Amino acid sequence: MRERTIAKSVEFIGIGLHKGLPVRMRLEPAEERSGIVFYRRDRNRYIKVRPQSVVDTRMATVIGEGGVTVSTIEHFMSTLYSYGIDNLLVILDSDEVPVMDGSAIAYSMLLDEAGIQEQRVSKRVLKIRDRVRVQEGEKYVELLPSKEMIFDFTIDFDHPAIGREHYRFNFTKQAFLKEIAKARTFGFLKEVQYLRSMGLAKGGSLDNAIVLDDYGILNPEGLRYPDEFVRHKILDAIGDLALLGMPIMGEYRAFAGSHALNHRLTLELLKEGAYDIVELDRDSTEEQRAIAYAFATG
Ligand SMILES: [Zn+2]
Repeated sequence: MRERTIAKSVEFIGIGLHKGLPVRMRLEPAEERSGIVFYRRDRNRYIKVRPQSVVDTRMATVIGEGGVTVSTIEHFMSTLYSYGIDNLLVILDSDEVPVMDGSAIAYSMLLDEAGIQEQRVSKRVLKIRDRVRVQEGEKYVELLPSKEMIFDFTIDFDHPAIGREHYRFNFTKQAFLKEIAKARTFGFLKEVQYLRSMGLAKGGSLDNAIVLDDYGILNPEGLRYPDEFVRHKILDAIGDLALLGMPIMGEYRAFAGSHALNHRLTLELLKEGAYDIVELDRDSTEEQRAIAYAFATG
């Protein structure tokens, strides 16, 4: 299996979550081994997507270089991961990725329009060799060795509309589109009001998030999946791990995980060196065939 970029440039305009203003985003093909790179055209600054570029994880995953940042990259990164896109230039004229409907589905339609271009060099995967775990009280996220690509998430919210939800996701691109991509981000009305008072979340609405008050869901259309909350947490986790720049052969497991814990997990994995990098240079092993199948474009 080889590295991938997009076949042709595409561009669109969407609303940024925090400023509530239109943002233009353009995707361009990029060279082999160059990774995912954001370019802030308004500031003439390139920001390479990698765990070391993360500057904030409180509300969303934010990357930056030299004080220039790009916010809310996680849903877009999750989509790139699922399409097996290794190399891409993402040009923005503002500091946030358009939020779209709060899920990954609009980005997948954009990538379908751009098409996938196979490149010449072998794709590489991060194969987890030893367990790595980050814990904070009863919350944890961890990576374990596995012959499959699993994302296993449990949440437990003391809220009548959420409660305890568990989802075990066996990754393939097709399963991502069906089971995960449409799951929207969610937030509580109290938090939205607080954020608004700080001049944030100006673009946030029932069009791009599930919003809950103390009793239930405010969106008149209801949920897209019965367990949409935990599925969205998997969407986020894939996007956060995508910063490692390679797909992960292993099992990710989380209880009440967050962007902050996911970020710490990526740094810990790199620090511990608890992985092997495997070149997908042949399709002869069972493992390599399984990865090629997971990223099949058909
Ligand atoms: Zn999210």
